[in-house]
Amino acid sequence: MFEALKPQPADKILSLMEAYRADPRDGKIDLGVGVYKNPQGVTPIMRAVKAAEQRIWEQQETKAYTGLAGDPAYGDAMIALVLADAVPRDQVAAVATPGGTGAVRQAFEMIQRANPQARIFVSDPTWPNHLSILKYLKIETVPYRYFDAETGGVDFNGMMADLDGLRAGDVVLLHGCCHNPTGANLTMPEWQAVVEKLNAVGATPMIDIAYQGFGDGLDADAAATRMVAASVPECLIAASCSKNFGIYRERTGLLMAVGQDRSRHGVTQGMLAFLNRQNFSFPPDHGARVVATILGDEALRADWAAELEEMRLNMLRLREQLAGELRTLSGSDRFGFLAQHRGMFSRLGTTPEKVEALRRDHGVYMVGDSRMNIAGLNADSVPILARAIIDAGV
Ligand code: PLP
Repeated sequence: MFEALKPQPADKILSLMEAYRADPRDGKIDLGVGVYKNPQGVTPIMRAVKAAEQRIWEQQETKAYTGLAGDPAYGDAMIALVLADAVPRDQVAAVATPGGTGAVRQAFEMIQRANPQARIFVSDPTWPNHLSILKYLKIETVPYRYFDAETGGVDFNGMMADLDGLRAGDVVLLHGCCHNPTGANLTMPEWQAVVEKLNAVGATPMIDIAYQGFGDGLDADAAATRMVAASVPECLIAASCSKNFGIYRERTGLLMAVGQDRSRHGVTQGMLAFLNRQNFSFPPDHGARVVATILGDEALRADWAAELEEMRLNMLRLREQLAGELRTLSGSDRFGFLAQHRGMFSRLGTTPEKVEALRRDHGVYMVGDSRMNIAGLNADSVPILARAIIDAGV
């Protein structure tokens, strides 16, 4: 049987990690894999996470199954974190999932069951796993223009023109904040224009929010998601706790289905639980319990928010430093977009050949589409990167 299996393409980011590890050069810079790193290059366990884990270790009396939707305290806490009071709680169906990826996957499956004809509009570019899962599920995708390589910002006119192709029943996948891989984000008036278009045609938004707290702050980063949830008849929201709680390997996510028709709430909730049951039964609990413990305790929550804010400000400082160095070296403002971008990533907007030259000649490792993980830098490596970018002729 196994001889019939075809080899799958190697994961580009994992191959990049291996090449980085094998590179003997001092001063090499890893801007590849998407995890936050502190200035010492470490992905830390947050203080509040350690404290919550200790509390759970001391107080937890059973590891019997939870429910198919996961720990209700986790669901309630995450709905409040993402949506605040944008929509009444009884309009939100939700299930815990294995990471944000699990939420994305379950959302796609839910769309497929609700409307097998639905096409999903995706930003060009988007997180590659969106495309990979959609292809795996055989869901038709339609790309919409998003990134303007000239300005480093959003090609909003192109995006809106492409969304003119929407039909009733289609879904538009949007990144709630900190767009991956570009770092370029819609303004609030642009979000509002998108919502008006979707409502006019009868299309449904699906929001993937994986970096709340990494861009402009916990509430600012959720503002667009809250506005959308409050302004449309239905939407899907996939949230991840991997980055903002630093619990990548605990696989902690939440899928929310928001619907104004309260009479459908029970059926929607039941469908989400059913999908969990079919795919993995009960969602992982440890990370979810850590998150619920932190969000439910005033002191832990304050400490978590403060540490998250330090991480956010560290990335912002690195962005400003890099844009400043490049301004000096290039004698122009053409890299100013790096300071405007938000989140962990920025797309430099250069060719695969120059990305390769940066790796070969300067030991700078970024993804082939020129996505850089800003958190892979520190105050010492920023000038080295800036010099390499100019020397490579970007
Ligand atoms: N969505 C986007 C846009 C992401 O960048 C990521 C992680 O890289 C995820 C979802 C899911 O992350 P995880 O499954 O690790 O929670």
